[in-house]
Amino acid sequence: MQVAYLGLGAMGRPMAANLAARWPTMVWNRTLVVAVEHQAAHGGTVASSLEEVGAAEVVCSCLPTDVEVAAVARVLGPALRPGTVWVDHTSGDPAGSRDVARLLEGYGVGYLDAPVSGGTDGAAAAALTVMVGGEAEDLELVRPVLETVAARIVHVGPVGAGMAVKAVNNALLATSLWAAAEGLVALTATGVEPAAALEVINASSGRSFASERLLPERVLTREFPRTFALALLAKDVRLATDVLAQAGVEGQGLSIVEELTTAAATELGEVDHSALVRWVERAVGVEIASLR
Ligand code: NDP
Repeated sequence: MQVAYLGLGAMGRPMAANLAARWPTMVWNRTLVVAVEHQAAHGGTVASSLEEVGAAEVVCSCLPTDVEVAAVARVLGPALRPGTVWVDHTSGDPAGSRDVARLLEGYGVGYLDAPVSGGTDGAAAAALTVMVGGEAEDLELVRPVLETVAARIVHVGPVGAGMAVKAVNNALLATSLWAAAEGLVALTATGVEPAAALEVINASSGRSFASERLLPERVLTREFPRTFALALLAKDVRLATDVLAQAGVEGQGLSIVEELTTAAATELGEVDHSALVRWVERAVGVEIASLR
């Protein structure tokens, strides 16, 4: 199958590299030089215009939001052949993904919203979890391609369902990150060694991805490596509160997390999502670092 990958960002680069090792893969990126460098490192071909992507049988995309995907689909859609399937790995708005699906349907092109979880490490290891919304037949057509980048593929419902699950998942991530940050800052301020506190929490019922991975690997080390932008996490929490509102759920807790995450993203700028811990640290004047 001729595969095209659109968007060689933090997630797209390792995903496209894994695809290129298995399938004839064409890459397109808004900033062309990134695609040219990718081809030099991983082979395949470069599309210097979206029209050139028309030859693909499977189109994968990973852009910031559904808004960028819709803009790309308006240009690329007419160039695609009927029977092509578009697999969108972007974490976007479920309603936006349904609009893109309708647009592509007009060209005989299938659309799956297929956001991913597992971060840049999971992408590099081809061990992502993919949550898929859309037609089961389209998923079966592209399953071999998805298996090249994923360890787990779950069909969660019609178009938009994948985006909704992803938004709620990331709202849970943000919630546990805030809670872990506040709890660990408080414990550190009272003289508890943070590594010892995390050892207890991670063997107890309060553990989460934030306590098991983010705090030990990014905060205690003070590295805060930029793999997933705080602005993208804030976008995901906003999408989750929309999902709740559309389902008639008031979401009082998540509204607070949304407000906090958006404020932290605005103030801290271009940082990794784990850096929101700094916001809590600054307010208290205590850093989560070893007391020894
Ligand atoms: P990056 O910011 O690293 O990459 C964004 C990509 O989108 C780049 O290729 C960029 O191109 C392209 N792009 C930006 N704006 C436009 C535009 N207007 N038109 C066309 N292309 C554009 O993002 P990530 O890879 O981190 O995230 C991508 C998606 O994956 C997001 O929805 C995010 O929430 C989700 N995600 C991210 C994870 C992570 O750990 N990073 C984990 C799971 C999901 P250019 O090079 O020109 O800037």
